[in-house]
Amino acid sequence: MLAAVKMAKHHPDAKWVYEKVSREIPNISLGTVYRALAALSAEGLIREYRRADGPSLYDPNTEDHFHIRCRSCGRIEDVPPVQLPDDMLESIRRASEFARVDQVRLEFGGICSACAEKTRE
Ligand SMILES: [Zn+2]
Ligand SMILES: [Zn+2]
Repeated sequence: MLAAVKMAKHHPDAKWVYEKVSREIPNISLGTVYRALAALSAEGLIREYRRADGPSLYDPNTEDHFHIRCRSCGRIEDVPPVQLPDDMLESIRRASEFARVDQVRLEFGGICSACAEKTRE
């Protein structure tokens, strides 16, 4: 199960993992896959990526990183590490009046190159 998620180049949902794994374990149920993915997330081996508009995705990359999402086809990719302004967290902390701000979760949006190509035709 872990291998299936780690192998995925994208951020698969449970259905994708289920289809992959059921080729090797034909009797496995979707519920089992959900439970295994939840357990792997709890152990920190993968990350659950909750979406407002669809099922959770599972991310093999457990480092802090940003995502970019295509508005057209919905694919989500990792953004290579970029340097954020050093004072960003401090600005957010001041604006929010939080005691402490130490996490960032950002999602960028746009149109992927494959979709851009399609609309050009
Ligand atoms: Zn796209
Ligand atoms: Zn990711």
